[in-house]
Amino acid sequence: MSIITKKDGKLEILTAEGISAPHCFTTRFGGVSTGVLDSLNIAIKEGEQAENVRENIRILSDALDFDMNALVTTRQTHSDIVRVVTKADHISCFHRDYPECDALVTADPGTALMVFTADCTPILFHDPVTGAVGAAHAGWRGTVSQIGAKTVAAMVEHFGCAPANIRAAIGPNIGQCHFQTDADVPDAMLEAFGEEAERFIRVDGDKYYVNLKEINALSLRRAGVVHIEISDACTACQPHRFWSHRVTKGQRGSQGAIIVCKEVGQ
Ligand SMILES: [Zn+2]
Repeated sequence: MSIITKKDGKLEILTAEGISAPHCFTTRFGGVSTGVLDSLNIAIKEGEQAENVRENIRILSDALDFDMNALVTTRQTHSDIVRVVTKADHISCFHRDYPECDALVTADPGTALMVFTADCTPILFHDPVTGAVGAAHAGWRGTVSQIGAKTVAAMVEHFGCAPANIRAAIGPNIGQCHFQTDADVPDAMLEAFGEEAERFIRVDGDKYYVNLKEINALSLRRAGVVHIEISDACTACQPHRFWSHRVTKGQRGSQGAIIVCKEVGQ
């Protein structure tokens, strides 16, 4: 089981073979936005026209077959807040007034969840037994505060999921090849995860290179998740294909990680 690339016309998305619910990690390819937002920008931001975002989401809703009015998103603040959402949250994804959170979970069929990234780590979750799904945005701070493991805990608490049944997929982020930091990041990782995290940190002079995908996977394994697929894509290695916050110095669009809740057995 691995993360694979799917192309349909100009649209290019990544999916995890082990997750049977409709889902994807988006790339820059397949949308209608222009300039630095060329082309599949899914976030409302300065310099972007709302109709472009709406059309980009519509393209994704067509590809994954979900109702774009049932898409619930986040207002991300590098918190460790996991929000439980239901049909009552199907208001519209085209505003910024969502409550603060960095992860979403639901067991309400028809509901689609989306988080935004552009170097940070997107993680998607699906429990094929209960049908529950989750989506998390883990920056390095979210990784330290174990937002992924907290998403699993919310699925256990609210939907009765068994962690061993949950399928998790870790999407494109800034890879260890490019995530250069000072001592503060590795220090925080070692404090949170202990010496087991040491093998995911490379030291080069007074700089450090941290493997956020593997540290998130470690956190998920400790939460009892066994089925974890990890993308090998680095946003900074492929800036033509993904937006990288570091490479673009913030002049960028956003990728999305989307998952749709379905009735069990469908
Ligand atoms: Zn890289």
